[in-house]
Amino acid sequence: MKIKNAKLLDGRKVEIGIDEEEGTITCLREMCEGSDTIDAEGGLVVPPFFNMHFHLDSVFSGNENQSGTLWEGIERWREIKGKLTEDEVEERATVALKLMLAYGTLWVRSHVDVTEKSFKLVRALKRVRDKFKGIVDLQLTAFPQDGIFTDKGNDEKLRKALEEGVDNVGMIPHAELTREDGVRSVEFVFSLAREMDKDVDGHVDETDDPSSRFLETVVKSTLTNGWEGRVTAGHVTAMHSWDQNYTRRLLPMVARAGVTVIPNPLINVMLQGRMDGYPKRRGMAPIRLMTHMGVNVALGQDCMIDPWYPLGSGNMLQPLFMAVHMDQMNAEEIRQSLNLITYNAAKAWRLQYGLEEGKPANMLVMGVDSVDDILRFMEPPKYVIRKGRVIAKDGNMVNLNGWEKVRRKPHWTSSM
Ligand SMILES: [Zn+2]
Repeated sequence: MKIKNAKLLDGRKVEIGIDEEEGTITCLREMCEGSDTIDAEGGLVVPPFFNMHFHLDSVFSGNENQSGTLWEGIERWREIKGKLTEDEVEERATVALKLMLAYGTLWVRSHVDVTEKSFKLVRALKRVRDKFKGIVDLQLTAFPQDGIFTDKGNDEKLRKALEEGVDNVGMIPHAELTREDGVRSVEFVFSLAREMDKDVDGHVDETDDPSSRFLETVVKSTLTNGWEGRVTAGHVTAMHSWDQNYTRRLLPMVARAGVTVIPNPLINVMLQGRMDGYPKRRGMAPIRLMTHMGVNVALGQDCMIDPWYPLGSGNMLQPLFMAVHMDQMNAEEIRQSLNLITYNAAKAWRLQYGLEEGKPANMLVMGVDSVDDILRFMEPPKYVIRKGRVIAKDGNMVNLNGWEKVRRKPHWTSSM
């Protein structure tokens, strides 16, 4: 296969030759050999997107959150999760992943709530992970939604989930009963990560409370356990309220520890600042400042039609669009911002990635010729290609094992 009339992010106009048997890029030059040509018509061809923070177990469970706070979301989810069946969770997560695929996301990290006692959420998402193997890579993070030390046995559930094949270990130190328990929970998670050789993927400082400072504990644990490059800290919204003297002292250490920070701008612009009058805080860790200080930053969609967020389409360009606005990026920063859902995420995933001869033929053929226009129109890719095979077209067809139409509005959401 060959793609002609392609434009790369560095402005080069090229053809891209693909070995479909091997699933690799064999040629990336002005002219390449090959039949079965896709005409990119001068559009950008970019590497596929990542969603570095999502909750597939709660997706499409509805949003009745009246106060709009994180805490009411957790309360409502506690009521919902007991009632969901394993099949329901699997079906909803499957629809969500197909939407993400149609919008060009091929790597998804999802949390799975391990404080739900029957473990049906874990079983359902493991089935989804198997179903999408080789199409969308799904990593699961064992997430103690209700806290690790808030209830007897939650620490054991976390361990059990990892023993049963969940990929990463999660945490939520700002939801523990005391600051001391929060610190202890971070230390516990790192000891578990070391014992079981797992990456750490935490919810960290997702609050407006400026005294929430667990990122520093995460950094310290990363360094003392030698876990550099294996840790992500999701949200860290408290950073928008920290004193600048503190933030600017901490960020070089975050960079040194190789901790990737994952803002979730859509969800946090809705959840944060709810107890503020006006002026109101924005609710996102400062991306430009972190990048400037050498911290690796990537984005997550976080939620879609669940107790924390009433909207969401599965298109990673939506959180990116929101991030660009909340962080007030200039034109050059906007052009660089695609890194937040591509190369920066690949670094945290430790993946062989990018458009080069010899690398896996994973790419998106976009219908526009600049990053500005990718963000202005937020259109789905014309073609999503994985290992040399077209697996989605125009945002409405996906090819798992044969072509099928994407359900944009699943039936469970019709009454919402
Ligand atoms: Zn989350």
